[in-house]
Amino acid sequence: MISDINIRVNRELCFACGICVESCILDNLRLSMAPCRQACPIHMNCQGYIRLIALGKEQKAAEEMRMTSPFANILGRICSHPCEVTCERGKIDGSVHIRALKRYLADSFPDITLSLPKTARDSGRRIAVIGSGPAGLAAAYELRLRGHAVTVFEADTDPGGLLRNVIPSFHLPISEVEKSTTMLLSMGTNFITGEPIGKKIEFGRLEKEFDAVIIAVGAGAPIKPDIPGQDLDGVIQGPDLLRKIKTGQKPQLGQSVIVIGGGNSAVDVAISCRLLGVKEVQIICLERPDEMPAYELSLQKAKNAGIIVENCWGPTSFIQGDDRSIKIEFSRCMTVFDDQGRFAPDLEPTCGLTLQADTVVMAVGQKVNFKDLPEELIDPVSGRFIADPITLQSNINPIIFISGECYSGTATVIDAMASGTEAAISADRFVNRDGLHWGRDFWKGPYLKDYSVHHDQAIGGSRCKLKYTPAAKQTIDQEMEITLSAIDAKKEAERCLSCGRSFEANKTCLYCLPCEIECPVDALEVRMPYQIR
Ligand code: SF4
Ligand code: SF4
Repeated sequence: MISDINIRVNRELCFACGICVESCILDNLRLSMAPCRQACPIHMNCQGYIRLIALGKEQKAAEEMRMTSPFANILGRICSHPCEVTCERGKIDGSVHIRALKRYLADSFPDITLSLPKTARDSGRRIAVIGSGPAGLAAAYELRLRGHAVTVFEADTDPGGLLRNVIPSFHLPISEVEKSTTMLLSMGTNFITGEPIGKKIEFGRLEKEFDAVIIAVGAGAPIKPDIPGQDLDGVIQGPDLLRKIKTGQKPQLGQSVIVIGGGNSAVDVAISCRLLGVKEVQIICLERPDEMPAYELSLQKAKNAGIIVENCWGPTSFIQGDDRSIKIEFSRCMTVFDDQGRFAPDLEPTCGLTLQADTVVMAVGQKVNFKDLPEELIDPVSGRFIADPITLQSNINPIIFISGECYSGTATVIDAMASGTEAAISADRFVNRDGLHWGRDFWKGPYLKDYSVHHDQAIGGSRCKLKYTPAAKQTIDQEMEITLSAIDAKKEAERCLSCGRSFEANKTCLYCLPCEIECPVDALEVRMPYQIR
């Protein structure tokens, strides 16, 4: 399918930016997309910035990254990196460390990666965003770009939502979140903090005063399974504990903690407890090791910190001991999911394990807290807001759009940001009286999923090993991971196989040359017959 007859692309130089594709007036070219970019929910050109680092053009790499998102400093630290899961280099000796390279650029070129964009002329439209987590921040950015007056309402005293208040500082320091909120403030975003909607400001007032409203309240309320004794003093909720720690409080946890849950939140809680000096920390979860939703890297960090993980157990009761410690009875979990893949844990009827700890932390999932928001917007079965899956527009009131976890359920930060952007695109079109559905399918553009890759051209060694603050020096409020050095970043970038490229797709070339002229790195040659040239 990929042809080099009239158009020849030098894969050493091409960074798959797609400029040539856009400049071809005869619709001849297409961009074959690298699998990393295909997997990215915001389709960031990871191949592009990686190739540019490998070529020593780091500033240009930072600019390429900035074009897709202004949140690289956050994503470079905590993105779930679906790009790395599909990376072709992973089939050889470990995927390219795409997230670490993103962080390298964000930390090395903050003037570029956090630069203020040019915003469109004032549209005269007012749009409210409720919630300032990843979805809310992404929506606010997109709307300000398009010239709308944006007011973000945040229940907490500072903007940032879970990025600021829940994700531990050893992954994402508050200062990094503040860089993003400061950028949004400088773009003219109005933040109203400490104002949960439904207290002083009613939701109905927003419907009257704004041209559109985006709900991005996340899913921050802990799920409390119906287990006897779960309201005892020593049984606490993971999100509450993480919030307390993030605000600088030092909770009294005792000498031993058992964390119930198999996701990232459970692992974050467990590591936090160890950093706060708890001697014995265990994670107990329903899932088998290969079913745990927690990232492998996080689990490895937990195990390195001496945290024990026990799989395939579900708690059935909590009992307070005389010394105020908590006794927990567990039953063996036979299966976690039913035949259709739905969460439906099947526990043995008898108790198979009894453990005791000073504190039990429940970290088994979160749900939407829709208190004080209109009930008619919510699906009573899923407990989430209802919206059109493509446009995210509410089917109850057309001025309302839903984004992030309060629509999708538990999601990653990058998924929530992608959703916030989509809701903003819809709200922008709505206030401009434009159609909401057109052009929403990314794959109907000039991008193709087919790509060609040459594994035999792989150079360099295996995936780089990240460096961390030595264990003895780790603290609860200091970042653990260390930014790649310039030398390591270049080495890692050179491992990329440059899977995507532009190519001649339609054989309509008339040798008119804009593609060759526009290519910023002279990677493309139009192969003209010598009579014409
Ligand atoms: S080898 Fe490079 S271009 Fe290919 S998937 Fe991995 S990072 Fe992307
Ligand atoms: S050939 Fe040049 S313009 Fe086209 S995708 Fe590659 S780098 Fe971009």
